[in-house]
This record gives sequence, structure tokens and C-alpha cells, in this order.
Amino acid sequence: MKVLLDSHRCQGHARCAAFAPETFVFDDDGFSRVREGMEDVKPENAPGVRKACANCPELAISIIED
Ligand code: SF4
Repeated sequence: MKVLLDSHRCQGHARCAAFAPETFVFDDDGFSRVREGMEDVKPENAPGVRKACANCPELAISIIED
């Protein structure tokens, strides 16, 4: 599974990082992005990424299933 983040939608609520801190990080302007090398979601990180996707108010996170 892969995770994508649409930076144009992100409003910096930080819910994604609360659910999946290993996957999301914030830039200097307070917006989220996927950490480098974490686009391919490891199985152990998948539950948190799914919760982040489901709880992003801006629908900025997309999941691509394998
Ligand atoms: S929850 Fe969504 S809008 Fe909020 S910081 Fe994360 S990606 Fe951005």
C-alpha cells in the first residue's frame, strides 16, 4: 500500500501525525507531508495511516492499495 498527501488541501490540523507519526512530518510552514521513503507503507504502519486518512478533515490523504 502507498500513501499520498495533497499539500494543496492540507490545512495543518496535525491529526495525521497524531495517528501515524512515523509516516507524517510537518514542514516549516506547519503543513504535513509524507516522510521521505515512507510512501510505501510498511504493514506495521498501515493501521495508523488508515486512521490518518479517515480522520483528515481536508481529505488530503489518499491510500493506494497494492
Ligand atoms: S490531518 Fe490532513 S489537513 Fe491536517 S495536517 Fe494532516 S494531512 Fe494536513
